[in-house]
Amino acid sequence: MSTALTIDAQSASEYCRTCKLEYPVSRGSAYENGTPFAIYVAGMHACEKGGSAIIAIAFRGAAGEAPRAATVQVWAVEEQFQMSVPEPAQSPWLSHKYLGRMLSRTEALEPSLKASLFRVADAVVYQNRQVRGFFAWLDRPSAKNGT
Ligand SMILES: [Zn+2]
Repeated sequence: MSTALTIDAQSASEYCRTCKLEYPVSRGSAYENGTPFAIYVAGMHACEKGGSAIIAIAFRGAAGEAPRAATVQVWAVEEQFQMSVPEPAQSPWLSHKYLGRMLSRTEALEPSLKASLFRVADAVVYQNRQVRGFFAWLDRPSAKNGT
């Protein structure tokens, strides 16, 4: 049975240690049928060649347990989105302790978590206006020429 997954969003910014610039971030909660079950933070940055959105998604832990988080990196490739799960050391969100423990790639891709992780990532990519706008901006002709 499918359920309705919705998100909310607010704008923020983050500092890139590589290029020393601030870049836009959108963050919020994900709701399953109106009940919050995860939070996310999506960084939109074209520092790397091609540009990508890097989204950390943190799931509430059981009572008394810290939340568990994983990172999903998203690229737009010819009208489609490609997603990968980097190791925690590659995540710009590793230092954000409120997200909880950042899971390894292997842990994040375990069947019990993987589907939820990519459902939230999909919701952010398709429902978050700021993220959609970022990919539309990357897709502009001048960006493709690398200028
Ligand atoms: Zn940068």
